[in-house]
Amino acid sequence: MTQHTREIFDQVMIQNYIPADFIPVRGKGCRIWDQSGKEYIDFTSGIAVNSLGHCPDEVVEVLQRQGQILWHSSNWFTSEPTLALASKLVEKTFADRVMFVNSGAEANEAALKLARRYAVDRFGYQKSKIISFKQSFHGRTFFTVSVGGQAKYSDGFGPKPADIIHLPFNDLDAVKAVIDDQTCAVIVEPIQGESGVIPANSDFLLGLRELCSQHNVLLIFDEVQTGVGRTGYFYAYMKYGVVPDILTSAKALGNGFPIGAMLTTDTIAKSFAPGVHGTTFGGNPLACAVASKVIDIISQPTFLDNVKQISARLVEALEKINQQYQLFKDIRGEGLLIGAELVEKYQGQASEFVKKAADNGLMILVAGPNVLRFAPALNITEQELALGIARLADSLRC
Ligand SMILES: *Cc1c(COP(=O)(O)O)cnc(C)c1O
Repeated sequence: MTQHTREIFDQVMIQNYIPADFIPVRGKGCRIWDQSGKEYIDFTSGIAVNSLGHCPDEVVEVLQRQGQILWHSSNWFTSEPTLALASKLVEKTFADRVMFVNSGAEANEAALKLARRYAVDRFGYQKSKIISFKQSFHGRTFFTVSVGGQAKYSDGFGPKPADIIHLPFNDLDAVKAVIDDQTCAVIVEPIQGESGVIPANSDFLLGLRELCSQHNVLLIFDEVQTGVGRTGYFYAYMKYGVVPDILTSAKALGNGFPIGAMLTTDTIAKSFAPGVHGTTFGGNPLACAVASKVIDIISQPTFLDNVKQISARLVEALEKINQQYQLFKDIRGEGLLIGAELVEKYQGQASEFVKKAADNGLMILVAGPNVLRFAPALNITEQELALGIARLADSLRC
């Protein structure tokens, strides 16, 4: 048998990632094992994706069953799992209609194209301005990365899509000064995930809703990271009580099987008339069957209540660790999307702590250079949580 060592990555893979030194080979629940058999507690869930843990039995069963029935038929045909999943999402959210894609970026790409097309249909080509926020992250397609608020990700690819403005996050006055009748969309993450786990203020989102309604602007919530139970709510908008016009979902929707969704209302959906937008794989029966099972489990009120309880325990544990070592100046987030911002002394060293944690058998994430991000599976057991926290405390001892 060939040895697939980490060195091979550097020989045959395009070097746009720098993966960890170890290679995971197996996962179950919140545990992962690498090639040497070493065990890790996983507080990353594949970046807020495996929200039911690795290889959850109920989902594996659906995957296997659908895998023997029908995987893919293209959008020239619809499928039973597609219709079932769409019906559930419509029933459980503000939305009247759903389009399926394969990733978060594609869901946002669809949302931004829909907002532009809706503006053209209803008001004309002059209504094209998109308001987004600094440090935001919306994916890596050229449109979504240009809308995202980190120029370093969109620079160096030639001319960017036009009419995109980046304003400071949580600054309603900045939006008031810029939003007008030429604006077609405001896109916002209810909690900025990648850039440091920064929650939107409730007043900010309420204010955006009002401003958007005043100027016929579509409010897009990018819930790719916050959606599907991550915050202890099925979607984060439900916590804030602010209803968007378009919502995007992906990451946890398929528990690791690629699927994304764009949700919207009847009126807005009309602008995606036949042929206006599409995807080959989006909404295939296999992905939809898996996602259907995932949301059946996660949308249960008792499941979501439990997420809030685990969250409280995790935050309490982090605070306790912090009392001992004074590492963090802020511990924030919602549900099981928690960020811990390092004090001045450790600025820029988040990745060092990730390495130390891995040495101790714990997988954690960063969110920018100064924030440790914790996103364990939403159904993490008490035992797994306690073990992970113990390994974390060991790793943070300095
Ligand atoms: C991860 C993420 C995306 C991009 O999703 P991909 O599936 O990687 O394309 C978009 N928006 C937010 C908020 C995300 O966290």
